[in-house]
Amino acid sequence: PTPIGVLALQGAFREHRQRLESLGAPVREVRLPGDLVGLGGLVIPGGESTTIARLMTDFGLWAPVRDFHAAGGAIWGTCAGAILLAREVGGAPPQFGGHQDSLALMDLTVRRNAFGRQVDSFHTPLDVRGLTAPFPAVFIRAPVIERVGEGVEILARHAGQIVLARQGRLLASSFHPELTPDARLHALFLELAYTAVPA
Ligand code: GLN
Repeated sequence: PTPIGVLALQGAFREHRQRLESLGAPVREVRLPGDLVGLGGLVIPGGESTTIARLMTDFGLWAPVRDFHAAGGAIWGTCAGAILLAREVGGAPPQFGGHQDSLALMDLTVRRNAFGRQVDSFHTPLDVRGLTAPFPAVFIRAPVIERVGEGVEILARHAGQIVLARQGRLLASSFHPELTPDARLHALFLELAYTAVPA
């Protein structure tokens, strides 16, 4: 099969790599635009979205990643990666003027660090549309998806908040599926990446 890319600038990219490889997918770490050539899909990991965004500027990755999607590539953003996929981002720290650069590929409004300080990080079994048993979801300073556009399918909520959504061949999760041994969401993403899914 064609390789799956994992954006490897900062954050939990090694864990994504391991989970994808455990499913038999060849993985390529992506740092430069040329690394996107020939990929079946791209994972943007969790980490710190402002840092990843700054590195994407330094490495000239914004337009190439948008072009990759326009040419048929599937993209999955987890946590900070979901922030980077969203059309609108709220809750960016004031030292950055409250503004957060993003790819704006998914019709979502995402709010950063939305579960509040007291509940910084937690894990919970999550009912996911299409999965028969709950998924063990790890949330770390997680964003929530406050609004979804018409073409977006909601796949999971936690405490009423949207935490997993899909739009065509784009997938966004507030939580970190790579930090648990459960590979079902990685399998779902491979299906998106290896099947021709319209935007
Ligand atoms: N709070 C981080 C951000 O806003 C995301 C946290 C994560 O990816 N675990 O970028």
